Amino acid sequence: MSALEIHEVRKDFGNERVLKDVSLAIESGEFLILVGPSGCGKSTLMNAIAGLEPVTDGRIHIADRDVTWLTPAERDIAMVFQSYALYPSMTVRQNISFGLEMRKVPREEREAAVERVADLLQITALLDRKPSQLSGGQRQRVAMGRALAREPAVYLFDEPLSNLDAKLRVDMRTEIKKLHQRLGTTIVYVTHDQIEAMTLADRIAVMRDGHILQLGTPDEVYNDPVDIFVAGFMGSPS
Ligand code: ADP
Ligand code: MG
Repeated sequence: MSALEIHEVRKDFGNERVLKDVSLAIESGEFLILVGPSGCGKSTLMNAIAGLEPVTDGRIHIADRDVTWLTPAERDIAMVFQSYALYPSMTVRQNISFGLEMRKVPREEREAAVERVADLLQITALLDRKPSQLSGGQRQRVAMGRALAREPAVYLFDEPLSNLDAKLRVDMRTEIKKLHQRLGTTIVYVTHDQIEAMTLADRIAVMRDGHILQLGTPDEVYNDPVDIFVAGFMGSPS
């Protein structure tokens, strides 16, 4: 079963066509990495999947449901986007449990979920702080925790580790990999870090200029790039 299907999605901003009939099917449990140069449309595609921006044309299905015209809250997703900030007036604990509260998850289950992700992300000591009392890296972990507290059909991550220092980035990458293996979650993950792409992905989609140029396993994309652009981008041997 496909967890996520994108059918000929087009997105125009004024006269600029940023997504040019993108189609993509992601299997349940798959870790799909989206890479491509800055400005090629990765975040626009993620925003379209999340429902943060309406598409100009095309359809989006999540868990076999047409969600094209549903709000983000109505789609079965959780996201970590740079633009999607924490609630400043809420504590870390409230930030993590808010999405569950909205979905009428009972208090005991919410508390258990907060404990679980806080332990996983090593933010237990931060639970009663406000976002303004956290470093950039800590905020990003809380944003990750907020997403992981839920069990949606699809997780959407848009460069979730880009504000972290190198050491924490490697630790978090390992954590995310373990999580995926343990829970069998479906993940769409944008990065411009080739190592992140090669180590995390079941499949990699390489985007350029509003198109998906190549979709394949890390091995296929790295060793059998469709063109010189993909080869250069992935750092393939020549
Ligand atoms: P990426 O995430 O791959 O770096 P984006 O999806 O953010 O690229 O942007 C793709 C293109 O769409 C860029 O040319 C960008 O300027 C344009 N764009 C993105 N969001 C908007 C917007 N809200 N209004 C107008 N143009 C936008
Ligand atoms: Mg982006």
